[in-house]
Amino acid sequence: MEPEAPTVIGLVRTVCGDILPEHVGLAHCHEHAFILPGPSSRVNPSLLLDDLEKTSAELREFHAAGGRTIVDAQPIGEERAPTMQRLASQRSGVHVVAATGLHRGIYYDASHFRFRESAAALAARMIAEIVDGMAEYRGAEVVRTTDVRAGPIGPPAASLRPVAPPAEKRSATGLLLPCRSGRRPPRLPLGSGGQG
Ligand SMILES: [Zn+2]
Repeated sequence: MEPEAPTVIGLVRTVCGDILPEHVGLAHCHEHAFILPGPSSRVNPSLLLDDLEKTSAELREFHAAGGRTIVDAQPIGEERAPTMQRLASQRSGVHVVAATGLHRGIYYDASHFRFRESAAALAARMIAEIVDGMAEYRGAEVVRTTDVRAGPIGPPAASLRPVAPPAEKRSATGLLLPCRSGRRPPRLPLGSGGQG
């Protein structure tokens, strides 16, 4: 008797709510709908993406061409724009899956909590973003929390200090999470198959 194929029953968490996997459609799995003023645009001004109208228009073009979902890979920090992500999704009809997690160290000031909080504290921030909603930041300070929930964990890069492994986030949230690493792929013990 052949072993049964694993059955994955899940939802995809978008900024407008959870959807069934069959509604994801044609998807771009690493996009940047918004990059608000911050380290990226200080390094390269062309990286600034802070125009709701332009992003919404581009997403409408994507939808007209058959696109249905993007993953906005902008992780925790002042450059991410949860409220605008939701508005752009509503205005375009494109599902937007938002990221939590942390960017590479070069995208944060040396005093940022990213470099000094424990793995458990960082994981708690990420889990709260998936379960309750993402925070909006000014520098390292939370300006406000939103009810716009994150889907995937963002890029835990090779330079990151040890952070709670993806499995911990999965067990706390019940979500399957795509994950991006630096040089080495993360260990994904649950057969979730995420990579890239
Ligand atoms: Zn990116």
